[in-house]
Amino acid sequence: MAEETIFTKIINGEIPADKIYEDDLCIAINDIAPRAPVHVLVIPKKPIPRLVDASEEDQAILGHLMLAAGEVARQQGVGDAFRLVVNNGADAGQTVFHLHLHIIGGTSFSEASLAGE
Ligand code: AMP
Repeated sequence: MAEETIFTKIINGEIPADKIYEDDLCIAINDIAPRAPVHVLVIPKKPIPRLVDASEEDQAILGHLMLAAGEVARQQGVGDAFRLVVNNGADAGQTVFHLHLHIIGGTSFSEASLAGE
């Protein structure tokens, strides 16, 4: 059982967040420290720590996260131009060990790094 993260607490309603989307498998929240005009996190309700910790049984969840990200990006008005970023591991910049997709949009990608910074 993975250690409970801040995202699990948000999913469980134990701490507040700016939630903009929810379905059976995931939520989407506005990042608390946005690095672009649109910076949304798509978070599975299942607490998979890192992408590399996902297994075959998570295939449907992983596919669902991609579809949800597209839907949320459209809802946020950046459906034609956004990046999806997954930081896997501390050395790659992961700070919350509960898998999440960063939707980065509304910025000039020619001036943005791959991490959206
Ligand atoms: P990562 O570095 O890929 O693990 O991304 C974690 C992200 O979570 C960072 O962009 C943080 O700004 C964001 N974050 C941390 N705590 C919160 C929170 N309570 N609500 C929304 N976003 C958060």
